[in-house]
Amino acid sequence: MKGSEKGRSSKSEVRSRNEFSKELESLRNKNLLRKLTCVEPAGNAHIKIKGQVYTNYSSNDYLGLSTHPEIVRAAAAAIQKFGFGSGSSRLLSGTFPPHAELEERLAKFKKTECVLVFNTGYAANTGVIPAIAGADTVIFSDELNHASIVDGIRLSKADVMVYMHRDMNHLESLLRKSSARRRLVITDTVFSMDGDIAPIKVLASLCERYGSGLMIDDAHGTGVLGKTGRGGLEHFGINGGSIIQMGTLSKAAGCYGAFVAGSKDVIDLLINRARSFMYSTSLPPAVAAAGCTAIDIMGRRSVRLRERLWKNRKHLHDGLEHMGFDTLDSETPIIPVLAGNIDTSLKMGQYLYDNKIFAPAIRPPTVPGDKCRIRFSVTAGHTAEDIDKTLECLKKL
Ligand SMILES: *Cc1c(COP(=O)(O)O)cnc(C)c1O
Repeated sequence: MKGSEKGRSSKSEVRSRNEFSKELESLRNKNLLRKLTCVEPAGNAHIKIKGQVYTNYSSNDYLGLSTHPEIVRAAAAAIQKFGFGSGSSRLLSGTFPPHAELEERLAKFKKTECVLVFNTGYAANTGVIPAIAGADTVIFSDELNHASIVDGIRLSKADVMVYMHRDMNHLESLLRKSSARRRLVITDTVFSMDGDIAPIKVLASLCERYGSGLMIDDAHGTGVLGKTGRGGLEHFGINGGSIIQMGTLSKAAGCYGAFVAGSKDVIDLLINRARSFMYSTSLPPAVAAAGCTAIDIMGRRSVRLRERLWKNRKHLHDGLEHMGFDTLDSETPIIPVLAGNIDTSLKMGQYLYDNKIFAPAIRPPTVPGDKCRIRFSVTAGHTAEDIDKTLECLKKL
């Protein structure tokens, strides 16, 4: 670290480089350093890494739509017609036909008055929450809500009360005690690391009783839950009413982008207040066109795909339970296998990887340090043989 070696760096540059590398070193020492892996798709539910083929349990492409020929064709045709980039925010450069079409189809799909498309689920949550919850609002948030909800709450001026995971008694006691002028309950429908489902019916009636708004994040529910894939509300057989529904096109739809469905007033307010919508370039029209086709397939023509998805889910889940693995309260294609601490989860992930199974270890800050896990995301694309092999491999663990 003598001056001559670093002759061309300024002192502050050297200092910040040291700080960054120290921080990285500390992450490495705690086994918390994350790294990226290059992958290529290799047929249904498989990926290639460094030339080797792995069974893939890391993707949320539940129905295998990301490679669906009709969706690929729709995107290609839209690129021919509209070019690629959209140029700017829709407030400046306008709404392309595929954006409008996508919102129309999503409103029908979710059976709501209106829909606004966002660039990602992360952008939707960080845009919507500050737009609808101000300094006079208390937000009640499930402790296992997705990071994008947590960040959306941080960006808002609202106070937050975190209730214990899916604990309706706890939520009710907080609602009862609160004297806030406005209240908003926010929950994932399917919890992304545990794979369990929020009791939306109870939540909706509690919200009604205590005069609270309700916002649900249906990222993993859309296309997966409900007879026709409409998500959490269809699963519980309840009408949207005043519930604000957020969902993504990046998971079961196999595309990219996200949306918020609600009343026209809510949507108009978001167009005026959601900063991630206002100050970010809109989705490429071809991405929206792909989304249109995906919604069409997901809503009307994916019954068999969804049947296969749930059959695969049962196969893997029952097999894991039978061997005595702790899969928490998973009820969906997201199946956690509790491993304990960071080290054991990494070892388990590595063992699977060595056996050509790609199922990532999930560590802090995503989950608590004593609840590290392997997260299996099973899809319609897995074969019974894929799942048998995976179970066989875990049996030898
Ligand atoms: C994946 C996910 C998001 C983020 O969606 P992206 O489109 O990937 O940004 C938000 N909420 C939940 C619950 C998710 O699982």
